[in-house]
Amino acid sequence: MKYDCVVIGAGAAGMTAAIYLKRSNLNVLLIEKEIPGGQINNTWTIDNYPGLPNVSGPDLASKMFEQVTNLRIESIFENVISIKNDDFKTVKTSNKEIKAKSIVIATGRKPRLLGLKNEEKLIGKGISFCSLCDGFFYKDKIVAVIGGGNSALEGALYLAGICKEVILIHRRDQFRADELNITKVKNKSNIKILFNSEITKINGDVKLESIVINNELFNVSGIFIYIGHEPDLNFIDDLKLELNNGYIIVDKNMKTNIPKIYACGDIIKKEVYQIATAIGEGAVAATSLKKDLE
Ligand code: NAP
Repeated sequence: MKYDCVVIGAGAAGMTAAIYLKRSNLNVLLIEKEIPGGQINNTWTIDNYPGLPNVSGPDLASKMFEQVTNLRIESIFENVISIKNDDFKTVKTSNKEIKAKSIVIATGRKPRLLGLKNEEKLIGKGISFCSLCDGFFYKDKIVAVIGGGNSALEGALYLAGICKEVILIHRRDQFRADELNITKVKNKSNIKILFNSEITKINGDVKLESIVINNELFNVSGIFIYIGHEPDLNFIDDLKLELNNGYIIVDKNMKTNIPKIYACGDIIKKEVYQIATAIGEGAVAATSLKKDLE
């Protein structure tokens, strides 16, 4: 199949790019490896998205995807393995090869790990990155949340409504989250805050059993890690894309150093990683791509 454009990643940036491309009458394919919405799905409520105050992350994600499907944008759910930059771009997924005139990379970021032994093997067995998705499994239990940003504090607040106790572990003596979230967390009786604290050991073989914080053993049923994100780009090895710290460098038109390959959203090197900025970049990428194809 030959497309005018393949958009890789159905987060806010990718879906916006696909909507703009389709509305410009281009033949576009959207590829997503998990669920539409990306990191938006991990946010309990979003209060800084104009026009939709207090919208839940998954609701916003599904509304965006509804718009994509209403426009009859073709989408497939497959993992992209590689991209080749020939006359046509060739996108290889787990089970097909797709030819396109251009590509928009909008694969976002994936959650950062603590780097401890047992961590990777216990993901889904007591270790989670999404309170909204997994919180219910820990009803009336004791859990720990790691991190001091908005995601950690919002995760802790959500879990406090389900779990018996939430231990909020932060490596410094002050949070970097918004004041409103900090006040809410401090006022919640079943959130115990441990500042200047780090997990040094995760115990468990088939499932999480306990953790060690500052040399003290804590029996917890689950831990929720919210310590930021890293770019998700392990499929671009064959391309000579210019990167900065793993993030794609783009110009103001969202062009990468390779002709007809664009990038937008959390995968690019920039200052502000927000839904609002991702959407703007998706629109810019699609608009400059349309001009280039003409
Ligand atoms: P973040 O703001 O970058 O916070 C990451 C936290 O993890 C920081 O507190 C950091 O500690 C800590 N950390 C990093 N590496 C660590 C390690 N190896 N061990 C222990 N702790 C570690 O990330 P985020 O909370 O995911 O938020 C990302 C962006 O989305 C931010 O701009 C945030 O404001 C935004 N966001 C907004 C909303 C909202 O508006 N409703 C909701 C969620 C996220 P230090 O503080 O010491 O660096």
